[in-house]
Amino acid sequence: MSRINEILEQLDHISQNPKEQLNKFVDAGKKVIGVFPYYVPEELVVACGMVPMGVWGGAREINKAKEYFASYYCTIAQMNLELGLNGTLDKLSGVIVTTMCDTLRPLSQNFRVAVPQIPYIYLAAPQNRKKEFGVKFSEQVFTRVLNELEEIAGHKASEEDLLNAFELYNNNRQEKRRFSKLAGMHPEVISATLRSAVFKSSYFMEKEEHTALLKELNDELEKLEVVEWTGTKVMTSGILCDSRKLLKILDDNKVAIVADDVAQESRTIKVDINMDMAKETPIKALAQWFADCDDDVLLYDPTIYGRPRNVAKLAKESGADGAIVVMMQFCDPEEVEYPDLKKALDEIGMPSIKVGYDQQMVDFGQAETQIQAFTDVMSL
Ligand code: SF4
Repeated sequence: MSRINEILEQLDHISQNPKEQLNKFVDAGKKVIGVFPYYVPEELVVACGMVPMGVWGGAREINKAKEYFASYYCTIAQMNLELGLNGTLDKLSGVIVTTMCDTLRPLSQNFRVAVPQIPYIYLAAPQNRKKEFGVKFSEQVFTRVLNELEEIAGHKASEEDLLNAFELYNNNRQEKRRFSKLAGMHPEVISATLRSAVFKSSYFMEKEEHTALLKELNDELEKLEVVEWTGTKVMTSGILCDSRKLLKILDDNKVAIVADDVAQESRTIKVDINMDMAKETPIKALAQWFADCDDDVLLYDPTIYGRPRNVAKLAKESGADGAIVVMMQFCDPEEVEYPDLKKALDEIGMPSIKVGYDQQMVDFGQAETQIQAFTDVMSL
């Protein structure tokens, strides 16, 4: 048990201290690339010998970014710009900015103009990503991103570098999927707070280190006897579920997270890169990986209702008693989808609540009341 606690403590510390990690990498002479959400193939950064670090906003005050954004933009976009404007990101050797939603598009242009001191890589992945022309388009986009990263790194990435990076990320995704299951089986050890920390820490660590620790943690968790959980089991859904205050409310009310449909956690780890294809055409295999990603409000779904039903199915299969939708304020993609998601959950008899959230929120009184009432109802 002590090794489990040691690993959890280490990952928890890292999840709360990205600046310390950035300084550590830079002091060691490594170049660090900031990676904005969503679906950035970090493998390309690693193949160039650099360190990718996730930039997903943060719980700080927004000042300078208000000159660029109206207040009805989500806090992730506003904070990412604020971090660029206030110098927090200055140690980065570059940033990769995507355009997956209507908020990230203006962010991408504002950041380019307002933060000229940080080399900027624009990644406009196609929505129509599955057909041959879509895969080809992604291939071209990823090739250009790779070329720009190589320029920052000062050297080319070899085919072997690419394959090693792909393997590394496949392993990390596999261990995360394994962890998600084991965390659901052992909520007495993996609280909602620690579960979030394990996922979040990976954005601020080199993947070899994160994967090695996660594998060790998983191996230890597997040895534990499964004990019956007397609290409530839920599936979480949303963009972020990393607020310490919100997670503490879940822990205080004995709410265990047995699965998630959270963008920062499991949404992007469902699919691995096909290594046989990668050995023939590495960048095409990466484009195919992106084409194969599904069940995300940010990805075009020609079936329209496929995703809500699949999320409801995930909740049911995970053994959750209910679902908590953590709704990021001013997130259009999530808000537009919500009625369908609610309907799909209702159709399978899965109770759910929607908790409003943004990264600047300090008062969680309403969320606490909602969660307490929700758990009370489910325990009847
Ligand atoms: S998906 Fe939602 S939370 Fe993410 S950047 Fe777009 S609007 Fe903001």
